[in-house]
Amino acid sequence: MAISNSYLNGVYKDLSRRYPEQKEFLEAVEEVLTSLVPVIESDDRYEKYGIVERIVEPERAVSFRVSWIDDAGKVRVNTGYRIQFNSAIGPYKGGLRFRDNVTLSIIKFLGFEQTFKNSLTTLPMGGAKGGSDFDPKGKSEGEIMRFCQAFMNELFRHIGPSVDVPAGDIGVGGREIGYLFGQYKKLANNWSGVLTGKGLSYGGSLARPEATGFGLMYFASAMLKDAGKSLDGSKVVISGSGNVAIYSCQKATELGAKVIAMSDSNGYIVDENGIDFKIIKEIKEVKRDRISTYLDYVPTAKYIVGCEGIWSTKCDYAFPCATQNEISKESAELLVKNGTKGVFEGANMPLTPDAIKIIKNNGLLFSPSKASNAGGVAVSGLEMSQNSERLSWSFEQVDGMLKDIMENIYHSCAMAAEKYGMPGDIQAGANIAGFLKVADAMIAQGVV
Ligand code: NDP
Repeated sequence: MAISNSYLNGVYKDLSRRYPEQKEFLEAVEEVLTSLVPVIESDDRYEKYGIVERIVEPERAVSFRVSWIDDAGKVRVNTGYRIQFNSAIGPYKGGLRFRDNVTLSIIKFLGFEQTFKNSLTTLPMGGAKGGSDFDPKGKSEGEIMRFCQAFMNELFRHIGPSVDVPAGDIGVGGREIGYLFGQYKKLANNWSGVLTGKGLSYGGSLARPEATGFGLMYFASAMLKDAGKSLDGSKVVISGSGNVAIYSCQKATELGAKVIAMSDSNGYIVDENGIDFKIIKEIKEVKRDRISTYLDYVPTAKYIVGCEGIWSTKCDYAFPCATQNEISKESAELLVKNGTKGVFEGANMPLTPDAIKIIKNNGLLFSPSKASNAGGVAVSGLEMSQNSERLSWSFEQVDGMLKDIMENIYHSCAMAAEKYGMPGDIQAGANIAGFLKVADAMIAQGVV
């Protein structure tokens, strides 16, 4: 379907012609440009200064060979990426993803989204993303360390505390950040806050591991409050059981909700009495085991093979926190049929475009990932501030700032949606509010 503005439609068509194979990236661009129609039509500067054609093209895209040696002594080769999308409002900032399905299209989609997400936090951070088609699952500690070192051997020349500050994402947790940081420090002969998500003993921030999950629940609470609803006493389904899902489960429980289902890529568990997040933490963070072993701790719970079935579990609110496109049109129809009242994205773009349409057309509350999962990068921004000040703030200080930031993001999205004639449409509001700050900075800085 054509975007209903000739300038935006032209930019999108040109991008589709140049990158026809980049499905995820094109999907993300189309979604944002569609929301920008009233903005472009109310201010001709964006077209005059070529803002949209510039904002959809990364400032720099690096792809590189990563060669390393496995435990059997065999040489292995993976592809590494760093996409530095936009630095109008601050140094490039965004995570690294290590997973076998990583492609240039996925990293470009994530980097594009990150530009708007970082803008929404109001902190001075540009947008970037990176990663590799290397999957740490099934690899030994030594293999993971050697891979991270080989990856940094190239990445180090493209990053710096005022240039580009990567962080973790899927497959890149505290362990990988540690190995990456160690190698950066050795190569650059420089201790600086060049990565976030660091361990507490070497410059990390308290509340960073919790930030995306806690932030998601702060955002959802603000949105529910505006709608006269609350998490307290509600039944909640959270997909995934990684970093975002675990801390979403903790905060939802603390706010009075009952989390009745969670998943991993093999299947899902249902515990009608409320999932104990401490058990999930033990299984996933300590033992690095499968979610099916939850039944060893709580024999009354159920385990069902296959992850997409989780959306057939009846609940008040759904929080997809696993991966992109995990809620299909069919799953969205099931959520509507089961009386779900809201869907809040924790993962990056976990709903397909068709699924989003079904959720919104049926009047469910919907929050897009670039707004509701911005808590992680917000606290990464706070980690950068602490590193440059050589200070460490308390958990309560950081958590308090996170809560304020998430509530502000919700209100600025709601206000932008209202101002441009789409009241209640937080998806459009997030795209507009995120765009305006970056676009205005780009105009001020000239054509560069
Ligand atoms: P993790 O690697 O910690 O966890 C991902 C989880 O999702 C794992 O439990 C994994 O299971 C599960 N999973 C993967 N695919 C599926 C599937 N198809 N169905 C069900 N479960 C699945 O990643 P994060 O929690 O860090 O990230 C999750 C999402 O949130 C990603 O989209 C990421 O980009 C986004 N995000 C993360 C942020 C952060 O701060 N961590 C910040 C902002 C966004 P298994 O163990 O079987 O692989």
